[in-house]
Amino acid sequence: MNNRINVTRSSMPPIEDYIETIKPLWDSSWLTNMGVLHTQFEERLKKYLQTPNISLLTNGHLGLELLIQAMHLSGEIITTPFTFASTTHAIVRNGIKPVFCDIDPYSYTIDTNKIESLITDKTTAILPVHIYGNICDVAKIEEIAQKYKLKIIYDAAHSFGTTLNGIGVGNFGDASVFSFHATKVFNSIEGGAVTYSDLKIGEELYKLKNFGIKSQFDIDGVGSNAKMNEFQAAMGICNLKYINKEIAKRKAIYERYVKHLSHIKGIQLMKINKDIVTNYSYFPVLFNENILNRDRETICSKLEKENIFPRRYFYPLTSDFECYRGMFDTSKTPVAKYVSDRILTLPMYSDLKLNDVDRICDIILSD
Ligand SMILES: *Cc1c(COP(=O)(O)O)cnc(C)c1O
Repeated sequence: MNNRINVTRSSMPPIEDYIETIKPLWDSSWLTNMGVLHTQFEERLKKYLQTPNISLLTNGHLGLELLIQAMHLSGEIITTPFTFASTTHAIVRNGIKPVFCDIDPYSYTIDTNKIESLITDKTTAILPVHIYGNICDVAKIEEIAQKYKLKIIYDAAHSFGTTLNGIGVGNFGDASVFSFHATKVFNSIEGGAVTYSDLKIGEELYKLKNFGIKSQFDIDGVGSNAKMNEFQAAMGICNLKYINKEIAKRKAIYERYVKHLSHIKGIQLMKINKDIVTNYSYFPVLFNENILNRDRETICSKLEKENIFPRRYFYPLTSDFECYRGMFDTSKTPVAKYVSDRILTLPMYSDLKLNDVDRICDIILSD
């Protein structure tokens, strides 16, 4: 029996590295509340992401949820339903109505031609997703936001370390949210970060992630608790040392998949514009059911029989979740629905062997 291959596998630094990094904590006994490692991790991330301002959090989701509060958004936010549950839930949990915009059929990012018709007098922001390590049409989104005086938050959970024309992805819009969850390209076990341009957003966020505490006797906000602890920061610091190598390995895997699966009838690969440097976070494949035995479900069961477990990621659309039944109409985002019904993300992690990639593609292409 072949060993099980999952869609992803967490990157681990050498254990000695991690032990060295956490050792000083036994002397300081300072385990959380913006400790030494927290500060060090922030500084290193700013450099790596080429962003002037960053705030670390327990996880990416709380980054999204608290950022929406820090920016005082309300009413309606335009977003996409082709994403992880977190994006939509963060909007709804703030009492705001998500207004779903369709996606582009090739890049799977928000279709910027369809944003303007969704803007109402209640719209306060646009929250697009840099999905699968791709980058949205940020110039067009900026133009629309300026015209209608809307804020922009990017869900950059998939796009750690990506660039557009050499500019770090965290520099677009008013703020961007990264996830350092164990399954992501870069992890701090759980964890997340928000990059932002306006220092006021940073001040608000700092209070929101620490109970609204401004100073010891001055609590001027009804804050939550979403601080990153020292053990998470240590994992982040260690993993960051190897991130370029990890991404290079992913690139080789990505290119191997492309070699086997591009120009195959019935198979569509994601379009990434040439001025984007991706992090190869996922390998999504869209199966067109017009080809016999090459529909998603058939491919999925063939792979599972061989102990290979891809994911129907993202299916269903968030607008089709049980908890939102009857609230949204998925026929209003037909492209998102089409893609969601046919997409499969293949195994992708830095330690995946190239001969396993060959084997996965053989199974997909076999009759
Ligand atoms: C992972 C993810 C999140 C949430 O991040 P966590 O760190 O797991 O809380 C948000 N949006 C997208 C698109 C994600 O994939």
